[in-house]
Amino acid sequence: MAAVSFSHQVKNELARIMPPKNCCCLAEFSALLRAGGTLRISAGQPPSFYVTTDNAAVARLVFRLGKSVHSWPPELLVQRQERLQKQNRYQVWLTLPDFRDPILQQLGIIKGRRVYEGIRRSLIRRQCCQRAYLRGIFLGCGSITNPETAYHLELVLSSEGYAQEVIGLLNRVGLQARVNLRKEMQVVYLKEAEQIASLLRLIGAHRALLHLEDVRVLKEVRNQVNRLVNCDTANVEKAVSTGLRQAQNISFIADKVGLDWLPASLRQMAVVRLAYPEASLKELGDLMEPKLGKSGVNHRLRRLEEIAEELRRGKGGE
Ligand SMILES: [Zn+2]
Repeated sequence: MAAVSFSHQVKNELARIMPPKNCCCLAEFSALLRAGGTLRISAGQPPSFYVTTDNAAVARLVFRLGKSVHSWPPELLVQRQERLQKQNRYQVWLTLPDFRDPILQQLGIIKGRRVYEGIRRSLIRRQCCQRAYLRGIFLGCGSITNPETAYHLELVLSSEGYAQEVIGLLNRVGLQARVNLRKEMQVVYLKEAEQIASLLRLIGAHRALLHLEDVRVLKEVRNQVNRLVNCDTANVEKAVSTGLRQAQNISFIADKVGLDWLPASLRQMAVVRLAYPEASLKELGDLMEPKLGKSGVNHRLRRLEEIAEELRRGKGGE
């Protein structure tokens, strides 16, 4: 069986939440139908909705919500996929006696005598309902990338007007969503880990939130380790390049005036540095006869560089 995506896991978690209050059930059902459902109106036929999903938990939730907000029990169809490794698809149908059924107005699908593009205000007046509504939208048309790969959560909506209303609702709960056009669909998305975490918290995806926080901590630690390693590498590189520069300066002295011209203490230092341009000060000190401390080595190397500098400027020697 194919690996279950993070999106699928989050939806599994969310679909198991049944809102305790009627106001929230209506809000969540409305959002689910709007974002994930299709309204079918044809002449001579009773109007009906259907929601198609490959997630059994989501199908069950639509069924339960449908039953709780409407007296007609919905009908659940299961379609088996022909291809291997494909999950079943579920369709939940809700057929209404006619177009004037008040549930269509309550759900904000119809306003007056027309299909309504916006979100009915009464559905998202309370905070509890705003959360339920957002959960419904995510279940209907949302997806989230595993945070190990990237921080990305999106809602794919078909109408521009509705996308703007959804962005407005996200704003009201303190989230700044952006929108992109993809194949004539409006993709409302969140990119920052902080914002995604807030949304998960609001809609009650607590396990998903824990996973996100774990990944964030891990990434942070990994970055710190990388920074330390890079910093260490930089120090080593700096030391090596200093050693090479000193060896070059010593070669210059040797070419210009010969190392014998140097006083004995500096001559020995020069020979050792030339032989080991990449050695550390401590290693150089150990190679000296008698051994020399780091500051002594440092002092002599600096003196050698000064001499090279003086020779370059034409002083000393000859
Ligand atoms: Zn509510």
